[in-house]
Amino acid sequence: MGIVVQKYGGSSVADAAGIKRVAQRIVNTKRDGHDVVVVVSAMGDTTDELRDLAQQVSPLPPPRELDMLLTSGERISMALVAMAIAQLGHTAKSFTGSQAGVITDSVHGRAKIIDISPGRIEAAIAEGAIAIVAGFQGVSQDTKDITTLGRGASDTTAVALAAALGAEVCEIYSDVDGVFTADPRIVKTARKLDSVSTEEMLEMAASGAKILHLRCVEYARRHQMPVHVRSSFSQKEGTWIVPTPEGEQPVEQAIISGVAHDRSEAKITVVGVPDKVGEAARIFEALAAVEVNLDMVVQNVSAAATGLTDISFTLPRADGTQAMAALAKIQDEVGFDKLLYDDQVGKISLIGAGMRSHPGVTAKFFSALASAGVNIGMISTSEIRISVIVDESQVDEGVRAAHTAFDLDSTEVEAVVYGGTGR
Ligand code: ASP
Ligand code: MG
Repeated sequence: MGIVVQKYGGSSVADAAGIKRVAQRIVNTKRDGHDVVVVVSAMGDTTDELRDLAQQVSPLPPPRELDMLLTSGERISMALVAMAIAQLGHTAKSFTGSQAGVITDSVHGRAKIIDISPGRIEAAIAEGAIAIVAGFQGVSQDTKDITTLGRGASDTTAVALAAALGAEVCEIYSDVDGVFTADPRIVKTARKLDSVSTEEMLEMAASGAKILHLRCVEYARRHQMPVHVRSSFSQKEGTWIVPTPEGEQPVEQAIISGVAHDRSEAKITVVGVPDKVGEAARIFEALAAVEVNLDMVVQNVSAAATGLTDISFTLPRADGTQAMAALAKIQDEVGFDKLLYDDQVGKISLIGAGMRSHPGVTAKFFSALASAGVNIGMISTSEIRISVIVDESQVDEGVRAAHTAFDLDSTEVEAVVYGGTGR
């Protein structure tokens, strides 16, 4: 039998009892005859707590030191899981990301994996040991400094390692039974999906579904790695993320696979931009220069009388201050009136490969939102997704309304959330 890579999220290893439960599961997999490589996240909300602690010491901590601090969370879990496995009479060895051969670029806080050379992991497996790897971290090829891969990126460590080791499957364990048609924390009647295509999963992850890290899904697609998302608290079969071969489409397809939401964005409006060639380019060049990732962009029709237009866009809230500062610097040069910043926004997205062949999806979505009294601020679409920006306070209602309108509600048991604080 081949290698199984298992990743356990923060809520699965939140306390000593959780760590022992996970260790038992790992040992059971080993007893079934598999070679097991485990990737762990930091215990519970440790990463957030470490961030808060850093904030108290310094409002803008040096990124290198912040990474050094945050990676300690995963080191705690990996050592404790290895100890719990030893207690069960099996050999386990823990490795930091760097020791596991996770080589990254040097961008602190969101480093990208450029290579994996898992020699030490292979050696551990060859000795019959279970390898435990700290997720979310690596080492920069150039600077040799410790890096982190971005929030939630232990998933990416797991899939990348699975691909490098030629594993049979990458199992991602969390506190819910799999990928649901909506966040079960908001929609009690959300249904677990048995399988989701990588292309739909990519759109869901990009639309704020936190169940899988976006880059992990990209990795799985590129390397055709089967991913099984399931709960560490139950024995239930979870959701399989299945790479759909290029050009092929499943015979029968639900129109909509799920409703995702995102509360991590903010909206900036540049008011009174002179409607001349090159103005928009100047604005977005300024944002690109400070490496702000934009999501939706809308330019209003300019008022003929004034020759001025408004440009609105959304971006990660975390980049808000930086973006506003960069724009303020070019205000005189571009000659716009003022900047508006709104971080009380949320995004609701409808995802489904079936919408390609079904007209009327947009109309149905918008009328469901209207019936629920949810006002739409901005709209963007892709081939298999429709997203809207709404007031943050209306996100839950909007998600529920869309979920019901597209007949996604389950009539069976309620979705279970086994753990986690949802932070
Ligand atoms: N502990 C990290 C975080 O909370 C990585 C992860 O959980 O995947 O973002
Ligand atoms: Mg975490």
